[in-house]
Amino acid sequence: MKSFSPFRLWNEVLSLIQPASPACPFCGKPVSYGAASSVRNIQPLLPAVFRRQVCASCIAGIPWVNRIVCPVCGRGEYCPDCPRRSRPHFVCNRSAVRYDDRMRGWLALYKYRGNEELEERLADMLMPPLRQMALELGVRTAAPRGRKRAFGQAPDRVLFWDAVAYVPVSRERAAERGFNQAERLAQGLSARTGLPVAHLLHRTRHSGKQSFKTRGERMENTKELFRADPAAIAGLRPYGMQAVPSPVRLLLVDDIYTTGSTMEACSAALQQASPYPLRIYGLTWARS
Ligand SMILES: [Zn+2]
Ligand SMILES: [Zn+2]
Repeated sequence: MKSFSPFRLWNEVLSLIQPASPACPFCGKPVSYGAASSVRNIQPLLPAVFRRQVCASCIAGIPWVNRIVCPVCGRGEYCPDCPRRSRPHFVCNRSAVRYDDRMRGWLALYKYRGNEELEERLADMLMPPLRQMALELGVRTAAPRGRKRAFGQAPDRVLFWDAVAYVPVSRERAAERGFNQAERLAQGLSARTGLPVAHLLHRTRHSGKQSFKTRGERMENTKELFRADPAAIAGLRPYGMQAVPSPVRLLLVDDIYTTGSTMEACSAALQQASPYPLRIYGLTWARS
C-alpha cells in the first residue's frame, strides 16, 4: 500500500479541478485554452467541443467548402461529372472540406489508428455542411426543447430527414481495418442530430482501390457493387404506407466524394429496392 502523502493528495486535487490542456488529436500539440476563439475559420454549427479539443493552427487550416458552384454535388468549381449524369438517383451532395493534403493526412490518421477522439472531431465537421444543406433546402433546424440555443452548442434535431444511411465497405476491408469509417461517421451524425442510423446497404464484392482508377473504370466498377436490403428499407416506415405517399428522406454518409459514382450506385440500389419513394441526400466529409 502507498503511504499517505499530503503532497500527492494536493496534486491529485489540483489535477481534478484543473485538467491538463488536451493534446490536439490531429497534430498532438497541446491545445491552449481560448486560443481557438481568435481563429476566424469557424463554421456555424461546428460543435463548441471542436474548438476546445483542436488546436488553433489546425482549425485555421481547415479548407471548408463554403462556395458552391455545382448545385448537385456541391463542388466549389466547374463540375464535369454531374452534367453527364442524366438523372441522378440522389438529390444532392454536400461536403465539409476540400480534400487537400492536410485533410488527406487527417483521414489517413483516423483510418489507420481508428482513434475515438479523431472520430468524434471528424463527425463534428459534418455539422456545418448539414446546416448548409438544410439552409439551401429551406429546412428549419430546431434545438431540443428547454435548452438554450447557444451558438453551435445544442445538438440540432433536423426534422426534415428520417434516417442516416452510410456507404458500406467490403467484408475484406472491414476485416482489415476493423471498422467502416462511413458507418462511424453516420453514428456520429446520429448522436448529433437525433436521427436514427439505418443499415440499408451491402457491398456485393471487393472492388479494389478506387483512387487508382480512371473515371470510366470507376463507373464500371461501381455497377451492381451495392445491394440494398428491402426489408430494412421497409422498416424505415414501420406503420406501412401512409395515405398520402410522402417520400422517405435519407442522409447518405461517406468519407469522400470524388466523381459521385459511389453515391450514385448506392442511391440507385436504394431506389430500386424501396417500396416507396426515397429522396437521398449525400453528406460527405471531404470533396476531392
Ligand atoms: Zn493541431
Ligand atoms: Zn457536380
